[in-house]
Amino acid sequence: MEVTPLSPDVVQGSVETFRTLLRFNTVNPPGNERPLIDWVADQLTAAGIESTILESAPGRANLVARLKGGSEPAIVLTGHVDVVAVEPEHWSVDPFAAEEKDGWIYGRGAVDMKHHVAMCITVFLELARRRNALNRDVILLLVADEEAGSRYGMRWMVENHADLFEAGYGLNEFGGFNIPLPGNRRAWLVQTAERGFCWFRLRAHGQPGHGSLPPADSAVEKLTAAIQRLCHADLPYHLTPAAQAYLDGLARAMGPLGFVPKLLKNRWTEGFALRLFPDPEQANAVRASLHNTAVPTVIRSGEKTNVVPGTAEVEIDGRYLPGFTEEQFLDEVRQVVGDGFDIDVIESGPPAETTLHTPLLDQIHEVMNERTGGEPVVPWMLIGFSDTKWLQTVGIQTYGFSPIRFPDDTRFTRLPHGHDERAPRDGYEWGVETLWQTVARFCTR
Ligand SMILES: [Zn+2]
Repeated sequence: MEVTPLSPDVVQGSVETFRTLLRFNTVNPPGNERPLIDWVADQLTAAGIESTILESAPGRANLVARLKGGSEPAIVLTGHVDVVAVEPEHWSVDPFAAEEKDGWIYGRGAVDMKHHVAMCITVFLELARRRNALNRDVILLLVADEEAGSRYGMRWMVENHADLFEAGYGLNEFGGFNIPLPGNRRAWLVQTAERGFCWFRLRAHGQPGHGSLPPADSAVEKLTAAIQRLCHADLPYHLTPAAQAYLDGLARAMGPLGFVPKLLKNRWTEGFALRLFPDPEQANAVRASLHNTAVPTVIRSGEKTNVVPGTAEVEIDGRYLPGFTEEQFLDEVRQVVGDGFDIDVIESGPPAETTLHTPLLDQIHEVMNERTGGEPVVPWMLIGFSDTKWLQTVGIQTYGFSPIRFPDDTRFTRLPHGHDERAPRDGYEWGVETLWQTVARFCTR
């Protein structure tokens, strides 16, 4: 059932909210989310809505507000308000001025993810203003620190204040946008799964000694050989239910070229199918949804040129698929690197998988069908990290759905964390109405 669209004034107000959020410098570290959160709290207060601000550390603010409704399971509208650092010399505009040119609004956080935060604020305030009878509570949950692992944000909120946002459903980032497909086709992604992460140290031991005497047993040599093996051998292929849903969706969306995703569903034809992708970046991303991955990033060994070190270590960014445990993932790594290494986990977080059968996902499909003229909506797996993983640990079925429409020649993967991060104004306006229809229908039917 359609609800009355947002008025043009509300949509313009939402764009201004978005631009205001972009002007707060919330680069993490240090984050310093408090001034932005205070500003949001003021907007809510002006609308007669109470909110609670919770600081996990000085300046690291999180906000919860609630609209009361009926007894259906509550929905959380959520987003992180911190952003990653900028290298201003590579930007064509001031990254914190929210400048608009050629139909694009520029700013760090424009698509990761102040656009969604602004849209959530608009939808929340509009639900309150219209005083529609809600069938469920609607919770606004804005958090700090996602870009540095959520210790001061969602993870902390889930571990310490989950009682403030008990809910059945959530909407968070990474979905609701369009990707171009070969043959002039287009698909819209909704995040239904994400990989876990396991950052660890791999350490080799050897005989220390003098650099003038080649060692029989060298820690550096053992470690570099292990790194070579990790870089050249893929960890095993796994077709998880989430990846299967993604590939089936892509196959439907790609029409006559749908055989390519179908070939990806078989370990023996995976490599061949990946070479058919026109864009190697896209192929790499698809590949990462079919394998656990372990990428060496930081190498340490030795202090002096003429001293053979007794140990050598590498930090590895490990990511593993839904359905796997950290131990199973590390076993795969051990299989590749061999025996004789210490493995110490530095930090880790679980994978997440949201069920594909909920009234909320049905609602998303209904609205997207209308808003895109029937274009395909594909469930997909985020290969990186979002706060959804923490929400899932307290049973909140969360989808990545932060709707925004890009021109077809946009390379979305370059925008988040990239130079000149930006969002199209008309795509934003389309997105806020799409989010409004989704949430308002879900909460008033
Ligand atoms: Zn983000």
